[in-house]
Amino acid sequence: MKKKIAIIGAGIAGLTLANLIKKNSDHEFMLYEKQESLSLDEGYGIQLSTNSVKILNIIGFSKIDNNKIFHPTGVDFYNIQNKKICELDLTQFNTKENKYTTLKRTTLIEFLKDDVYTQHLRFGKKIKEVSELKGKVLIKFDDNTNDLVDLVVGADGIFSNTRSFFEKKKNEPKFKKAVAVRTILKTKSELEINEEKISLLMGKNCHIVIYPLNKNKEINLVCIIREKKYDPENIKSLINKVVTQNSRFEKVFNGDLKSWPLYFTPQILPSTNNKVFYIGDAFNGFLPTLAQGAGQSIESAYELFNLIQENKADIQNAYFQERSKRAKIVRRRSNINFFAFHFSSSIMQALRNFFMKFLVKRKNFISSYLGTIYNN
Ligand SMILES: Cc1cc2nc3c(=O)[nH]c(=O)nc-3n(C[C@H](O)[C@H](O)[C@H](O)COP(=O)(O)OP(=O)(O)OC[C@H]3O[C@@H](n4cnc5c(N)ncnc54)[C@H](O)[C@@H]3O)c2cc1C
Repeated sequence: MKKKIAIIGAGIAGLTLANLIKKNSDHEFMLYEKQESLSLDEGYGIQLSTNSVKILNIIGFSKIDNNKIFHPTGVDFYNIQNKKICELDLTQFNTKENKYTTLKRTTLIEFLKDDVYTQHLRFGKKIKEVSELKGKVLIKFDDNTNDLVDLVVGADGIFSNTRSFFEKKKNEPKFKKAVAVRTILKTKSELEINEEKISLLMGKNCHIVIYPLNKNKEINLVCIIREKKYDPENIKSLINKVVTQNSRFEKVFNGDLKSWPLYFTPQILPSTNNKVFYIGDAFNGFLPTLAQGAGQSIESAYELFNLIQENKADIQNAYFQERSKRAKIVRRRSNINFFAFHFSSSIMQALRNFFMKFLVKRKNFISSYLGTIYNN
């Protein structure tokens, strides 16, 4: 049955759902974004593992300009002194059509916006009030416009405002006492890394991820540093915690730096309204240590789309069961990685490195730790 759907938030999750509806169904929909435009500044890099590439290909991602993306062949693990520990082959998860991909977030947003921009996207829209009317949801926006819809999809990120209109129980994101610092390198600088791969350097209370963003040799660097407080004015002293462990990073952090605090959602809670769903970070915000935030946003949009298409009676329950099961698996692994990447004691680091060398070669382990996620 044809439905009218309001999607709140035009990030990766909302835009993916919009594309799936537009290209594969005849439901009516509108995306409501609170900002006045899509954030298309340089942005940070995104890693897309095969689980999300497979879904994006359904909406035409395989036709994207090949120069704007990259397919890293593996992950090289180093200590902070740039000494290699071990490597993981990423091509084992690839198929001919679906390859592990890295790109700029803006490249992904540009691709996702193309087919929905003019007809299905409204900017400067913030919900003011919601109510139920004749079995539908009436949304009033603060610019005095409104929409009467069958379904509302909250895709408005980890601090979801949509939740505050529909849910009594709060699930406020928590600060992980860690800060992310990002820069784009034009060259690999003085680091001895393989540019065809993702490099992950683990230090005391910090780790650094470096990967190519496209075929133009632009390289993304994200550094996660444990820090009790987030002070955007004091990023230099934060960076010092890394530079003191390896002075070669001084040059690396010389460019334009962006920083943001890391948050996670403490609980996975269902929607209490049968007509309201949450996707992406609005469903659950993950730590970035498994690089699955965007991937899970894409997956959640796809799961919800399929359930709407099947038109089953209890979509809400089916969606929550499937999504929460998946989110728990990803959350557990992201948390383990966060813990293991940041050991401060040299004994613990040596132990970790020993186990990593051992486990990375164990096919059964890799297929259960990563394959369950990448080959979904
Ligand atoms: C350091 C770091 C590195 C990361 N690296 C990766 C990676 O390599 N791979 C990966 O898969 N993921 C990564 N992520 C995570 C990923 O970027 C996010 O999980 C993903 O972008 C979430 O998408 P979303 O659409 O759910 O939310 P968002 O991207 O937050 O989008 C929400 C949208 O809703 C809008 N909005 C907000 N409030 C309202 C409102 N009240 N009304 C209307 N609109 C509203 C916002 O303006 C925004 O456009 C990383 C995250 C961090 C912090």
